[in-house]
Amino acid sequence: MKKILVLNSGSSSLKYRLFAFDNNQSQLLAKGLAERIGIGNSTLTFQITNQDKQKFALDLPNHEAALQEIFKLLLGSVLNSLDELSAVGHRLGHGGETFKQSTIITQDNIAQIREAQELLPLHGKAFMLGIEAMQKLLPNIPQVATFDTAFHQTMPKEAFLYALPQEQYTKHKIRRYGFHGTSHYYVSRELQKLMPSAHKIITCHLGSGGSITAIKDGKSIDTSLGFTGTSGITMGTRCGDIDGFVPLYIMQSQNKTADEVHLMLNKECGLYALSGGYSDSRDVEDRYLAGDPQAITAYDVYIHSIIKYIGAYVAVLGGVDAIVFTAGIGENSPLLRQKVCEKLAYLGVKLDLQANDMKGQTKEISTPDSKVKIWVIPTDEELVIAEDTYKLTA
Ligand code: ADP
Repeated sequence: MKKILVLNSGSSSLKYRLFAFDNNQSQLLAKGLAERIGIGNSTLTFQITNQDKQKFALDLPNHEAALQEIFKLLLGSVLNSLDELSAVGHRLGHGGETFKQSTIITQDNIAQIREAQELLPLHGKAFMLGIEAMQKLLPNIPQVATFDTAFHQTMPKEAFLYALPQEQYTKHKIRRYGFHGTSHYYVSRELQKLMPSAHKIITCHLGSGGSITAIKDGKSIDTSLGFTGTSGITMGTRCGDIDGFVPLYIMQSQNKTADEVHLMLNKECGLYALSGGYSDSRDVEDRYLAGDPQAITAYDVYIHSIIKYIGAYVAVLGGVDAIVFTAGIGENSPLLRQKVCEKLAYLGVKLDLQANDMKGQTKEISTPDSKVKIWVIPTDEELVIAEDTYKLTA
């Protein structure tokens, strides 16, 4: 049996999962999340599979300290010794054009991995924190990097190139990369197992961040996020598609700095802005159902942006066999799925309202005579990272 730890580092957070692999069969042993690392009032959660979640208030000045606390919890329960850890898999935000699939982290490629994160201006460095902490604490355990962009590296030029001066791509690497790749990959792979006849798939990852991907024969051929995580559909606090001149106009006419506008586009837009201060879709939904005009506008804009991308990707794919909903909202909001599917009646989509009335299950929610099949498939990015880590270090 091999035990694989998966780490997902943010600037002040560290998500972890421990998996056991036996003959390619995986089992989740434990999971948790360290939050507010380095900013005071830190907490750490820990949950062994099928047991209650525990939460601790701890002093976590940095990711190394958080990892040490995680090790203590694992050692008291699902690990007898850290020697039992076979490998660690990390989620990296960006692989640039260099990393088209997961890779073992080596002395030779770590600088390239770090450099790729720099394409993400504010958050990029944070993805390296888990790797750096592991290198200090357990330098001899193999480490694997999995990249959020990798699955989209199959996009053709016409989908990934922006019509900018050529050196913006050739010299400055500005192009559509796309994100949430591990999630789009996972749900499309699961769908292909459930519906082998599906060759043209549109996957809708709808969480606080969101993206829609066109997948043909298992390969991403277009996706709604681009150079950064702000384009495409409306999101919790991110704006989605806007005219490229809007940020420049705001900077010039309102005397704002690039950093201020960056913050605005990431944290002060989307559902949050339009609904009057609610970024959590559950709050927006409650107010929408209560008839709050701002929430209705926010939800309408959100749905409009989703159906617009689905329509675009039907065109890109030349048809569609199945549409998959995933991530926090896609998995858990029957209302959102219903509103979207109502607008897809022109494609022959027919939703089974009873089947749709559920949260968090893998399920076909269209009627037998629906021309396009609609599925809900809960995503599992950490499992893909663990599987890649297992395979690469076998
Ligand atoms: P991220 O990983 O990008 O933070 P998630 O995939 O966790 O995002 O999704 C977060 C979103 O999912 C929030 O807007 C939240 O309201 C929504 N969500 C989570 N659980 C539910 C639920 N039970 N019902 C409706 N929406 C939910």
